[in-house]
Amino acid sequence: MNRLLLLATGGTIAGCAENSATLNNYTAGLLGGDALLAAVPQLQDLAKISVEQIANVDSADLLFAHWRGLVARIRDAFAADPELAGVVITHGTNTLEETAWLLQLMIDDPRPVVLVGAMRPATALSADGPLNLLQAVQVALSSDARGHGMLVVMDGQIHAAQRVTKLATQGVGAFASPG
Ligand code: ASP
Repeated sequence: MNRLLLLATGGTIAGCAENSATLNNYTAGLLGGDALLAAVPQLQDLAKISVEQIANVDSADLLFAHWRGLVARIRDAFAADPELAGVVITHGTNTLEETAWLLQLMIDDPRPVVLVGAMRPATALSADGPLNLLQAVQVALSSDARGHGMLVVMDGQIHAAQRVTKLATQGVGAFASPG
C-alpha cells in the first residue's frame, strides 16, 4: 500500500466552534492531525498515512522555526524513504500561499507535496475540511501530480504555488490562481 506523510500545522481545518452553526467565531488549531485523519475513514483504503504534528496554531502565528521544521522534515522524509509517495500538509488558509511558495523554493523532489486547509471549522455543518483532505490525499497519490512542485488543493481545485492566492475570506471557494 502507498505510504504518505501528513504534517499537521493547525488552521481552521483543525478549528472548533461552540456549535455546528457557528462558522466564523471559532478557535483555529485545536484538533490534532490524528483527529483530522480519523474524520475521513475512506483515507485508510487509499494509503498508509503517518501523521506528525509540526504545530497547532492559527497560520498567522506560524514562526520561522515552524517553517524550518517543515522544510527539514519534508527533505528528511523523502531522503529516508524512496517509497514515500508524497506529503500532505494541513495548514491555515491565511498564510497557506506563503508556505506553499517557501516550500516551492526549498524542496527539490518530484514527489507531490500538497497543502490543504478549510474555510469552515471542523465542527461546522458541512465542514469543508474532510473533503478537502480526501482530495489532497488523492492528488498526493497521483502520478500526474509528480514534478509540478507544491500544490494547493481546496474546494475541488488544484492550484500551483506560483499562482495560488486567497481571494476571499468567506465561502469555501476562497482560493484562485489569477492569470
Ligand atoms: N485564521 C485561520 C488560519 O489561517 C484561517 C483558516 O485557516 O482558514 O489559521
